[in-house]
Amino acid sequence: MKIAIDGPAGAGKSTVARRVAEQLGMLYIDTGAMYRALTYIALRASCPMTDEAALRALLDQMKLVLDVTADGQRVYVNEEDVTDPIRTPDVTGHVSTVAAHPAVREKMTELQREMARARSVVMDGRDIGTHVLPDAELKIFLTASIEERAERRLRELEQRGIAADRGQLMADIAERDRKDSERETAPLKQAEDAQLLDTTGLGIDRVVERIVALYEE
Ligand code: C5P
Repeated sequence: MKIAIDGPAGAGKSTVARRVAEQLGMLYIDTGAMYRALTYIALRASCPMTDEAALRALLDQMKLVLDVTADGQRVYVNEEDVTDPIRTPDVTGHVSTVAAHPAVREKMTELQREMARARSVVMDGRDIGTHVLPDAELKIFLTASIEERAERRLRELEQRGIAADRGQLMADIAERDRKDSERETAPLKQAEDAQLLDTTGLGIDRVVERIVALYEE
């Protein structure tokens, strides 16, 4: 059984996907964290974000592990815990450029399909229903108004002690969505057989409930 959850930045995909996976006893895979991990390592290595071959080489050398624990997901690169640094505004600001390179996506897709092989998974991202797991039995496209998405990001950042400006966050989210939707390889797009779920004004519990109900239908 595979469940694909796609949608734009800040639509609540990770929280929802993790809870759905927990409830249904499936493995949760956050594919955004994988692109973020590569971006973080590339920034640290001063690798230009435009150098596709160098980014792919970095990715080929990385041992990337996603570990689901009781406190949430932890991300490791070559045994180093990068869970927190992959969420900084610097990484967020560069990740869409890194993710637009076909050679990077090719390898990420391979890793993601391998992680989902012979397992029941809930995978969240931008191209899961359209590209990574086109045979997923349930596909959800999560959206919310840009105002609400910015508000959620603001609260998330505040919880981690990072100050941010609401207007700037809205502009950043819109820009990231634009880049993710306009790239040539596997752009952010609702799969034809995906169910659209607008979460504006809906609490997490309601969204999780609806997805579990769709699964049980
Ligand atoms: O989900 P999250 O916001 O952490 O994703 C970070 C970025 O990773 C996205 O803005 C997008 O550029 C890229 N991404 C992607 N394909 C996926 C998941 C994430 O291109 N399946």
